[in-house]
Amino acid sequence: MKVNYANFIISAVRPEQFPEDGLPEIGLAGRSNVGKSSLINRMINRKNLARTSSTPGKTQHLNYYRINEDLYFVDFPGYGYAKVSKTQRQVWGKMIEQYLMNREQLRLLLLIIDLRHPPSKDDELMYDWLKHYDLPVCVVATKADKIPRSRWQKHLKIIKDALVLRAGDELIMFSSEVGTGKEELWNVITKHMKD
Ligand code: GDP
Repeated sequence: MKVNYANFIISAVRPEQFPEDGLPEIGLAGRSNVGKSSLINRMINRKNLARTSSTPGKTQHLNYYRINEDLYFVDFPGYGYAKVSKTQRQVWGKMIEQYLMNREQLRLLLLIIDLRHPPSKDDELMYDWLKHYDLPVCVVATKADKIPRSRWQKHLKIIKDALVLRAGDELIMFSSEVGTGKEELWNVITKHMKD
């Protein structure tokens, strides 16, 4: 995919605010600080379009980025942030659930995980939840530059086993720092855009 331009469109809190042009949407989920904004910036060749430190308090916002006239990235609020109240967590869950259940344009979910660590309980729950709705998922293991190449496969296997990765779901390695996996991820995304 050649990214000619990318724009931040809206931080949506209600479905009425979602774009209505019907372009395919790719959702991005991951725990706070996992590197979601950095991944978006790397994918669209921008330093700072997605805020490099997303505000953990903003639990209700779906951030829409349009890429060319081709698709949207829909950035979910990061999960697993300890200081979020139970009520906020419930609001988060409801909003994401509504989106996952009802959004016809949604083609693929990117579940962003830190390659260095086994998936957290929240990561496992998120994956199971996405599979409960029968959505295609690509697990993206980021921060690969922080692990020696010789250990990549071992870490990927730990992630794959912990999530019980379903047949058909992809798992790719990524680094926002050096660009590892960028082309591969675009290939996965463009394949799903046509579904
Ligand atoms: P978000 O909260 O998920 O949006 O996470 P950010 O994109 O803000 O990243 C959190 C921290 O991890 C920042 O300090 C980033 O610079 C760092 N980071 C993100 N991705 C990578 C990566 O691929 N490699 C390295 N070395 N650091 C990364």
